[in-house]
Amino acid sequence: MTRLVLLGPPGAGKGTQAARLAQTLDVPAISTGDIFRRNVTEGTDLGVAAKKYIDAGDYVPDSVTNAMVADRLAEADAGPGFLLDGYPRTGDQVLELDRMLQEQGVDLDHVVEITVDTDEVVKRLTKRAAEQGRSDDTEEVFRHRFEVYAEQTAPLAQTYADRGLLVQVDGMGEVDVVTARLLAAIGREG
Ligand code: ADP
Repeated sequence: MTRLVLLGPPGAGKGTQAARLAQTLDVPAISTGDIFRRNVTEGTDLGVAAKKYIDAGDYVPDSVTNAMVADRLAEADAGPGFLLDGYPRTGDQVLELDRMLQEQGVDLDHVVEITVDTDEVVKRLTKRAAEQGRSDDTEEVFRHRFEVYAEQTAPLAQTYADRGLLVQVDGMGEVDVVTARLLAAIGREG
């Protein structure tokens, strides 16, 4: 079974690719962004706590996010494997994930960084804003999300490279082509 982390800037196509990879690999795709948005829609305490950060394009505090992921990874379906989309995003989250996995006596197999060109990503996000009307997809907010990513999350690629876990995949091109590249990069073609 496979335990994967997907890294990549806002708009890199992580959500789209996560759903496809999860199906092929037969593991649950766990997207922290999706879990937060669902909680916001449902008006849960977690959603209320997270909403102001999300709308501003800031990260939800680590304490909140880590607790949420720990609960989700403890569910039965994530036992044999999982694909984490959007977590970890900070150095503290890396350490917390290490602790969670250590408790289960398991390790990550790969950390896959989807690389994109920034202009292309701005185009994609503008399109998504028009189609889905996500509250954090206005141009001003996504510029801020890029900055936060560059400062807090991009350095995690090096952390995982130092552990020999990082694979980088070009996220530009057709969705199917990118999926094929991702599967090839983790040694799971077709
Ligand atoms: P994108 O990949 O387009 O940046 P996501 O759907 O993954 O968007 O996340 C949307 C928002 O949810 C983030 O901007 C952030 O506020 C919050 N979020 C998601 N994952 C995390 C995380 N690991 N730590 C803190 N905040 C998070």
